[in-house]
Amino acid sequence: MSTPTRRPEPPVTGTVAVSTGRRTAYLLVLVVLPLLALAAAVAVVWGRGIGPRDVVIAAVMYAVSIFGISVGYHRLLTHRSFRCRRPLRIALAVAGGLALQGPVTLWAAEHRRHHKYADRPGDPHSPWAYGEDGRALLRGLAHAHVGWFYTARRRSDRRHWVPDLLADPDIRRLDALYPVTVAASFLLPAAVGGLWSGSWAGMWTALFWGGLVRYAVVHHVTWSVNSIAHTFGDREFGTRDRSSDVWWVALLTFGEGWHNWHHADPTCARHGVRKGQLDASARLIRLFERAGWAFDVRWPDPRRMAARRSQAAD
Ligand SMILES: [Zn+2]
Ligand SMILES: [Zn+2]
Repeated sequence: MSTPTRRPEPPVTGTVAVSTGRRTAYLLVLVVLPLLALAAAVAVVWGRGIGPRDVVIAAVMYAVSIFGISVGYHRLLTHRSFRCRRPLRIALAVAGGLALQGPVTLWAAEHRRHHKYADRPGDPHSPWAYGEDGRALLRGLAHAHVGWFYTARRRSDRRHWVPDLLADPDIRRLDALYPVTVAASFLLPAAVGGLWSGSWAGMWTALFWGGLVRYAVVHHVTWSVNSIAHTFGDREFGTRDRSSDVWWVALLTFGEGWHNWHHADPTCARHGVRKGQLDASARLIRLFERAGWAFDVRWPDPRRMAARRSQAAD
């Protein structure tokens, strides 16, 4: 049986070559370290249980990270699906940074390229990159989930894909301060755990659950949108790609798993537009809008939805 091979990576406009060292760094930081962190966390607290304090700290850190990615990095900064006041924009960008998925300019550049070439040559992370049959799809899923961090020999050139973000002094400052955000992502839960419990032990368990375990879980939950929600699930709307709706991914990602409509209308602030599709991120944006902090929100357009529905039926 022959091994499925990936279609050769085309020299897409707006990409630059990535060195082996950098690809190895991506693999370590985005895949290997979170898993080692999880293993270390389990080993350290094994048999000692986990208290309600750690659960609360980990849940809050999880929510901040996921909302930061979904509402901040993705809907606000990558797709500009709403505008907001400067303090909120900075807060959402920082929250996205706490998820440890890289500086926002890097994240947004790869993601804008994903939308332009979705599931076609040029898409940085399509599960269909190796072909359609079972074995090829299995490889494709691994590639879309985490493999591309290492195998992609070209990465999106920020000057090409995110000139708007590079022109924003706040974003440039946050990019430069990214190492501080990374440190804060671990120090914050540790400090809260230590102060809340008044003990070193409380600091350590909060660091493990709210820092390390949350780091691993948030990554794999987010990457599921790229792998699972381009492979399984319903497709209500016509798109040129294989984006789909997967309820459990949507639940864990606060709405990002309703991925089919997102590809049908990427600048729309709500991804879960069908009946019963809970989209926590859209609800948060609505709250910001009501409070007067967010404006020019692009809510779903019923005419566009009807048109895309009939495209899917064709
Ligand atoms: Zn997608
Ligand atoms: Zn998107």
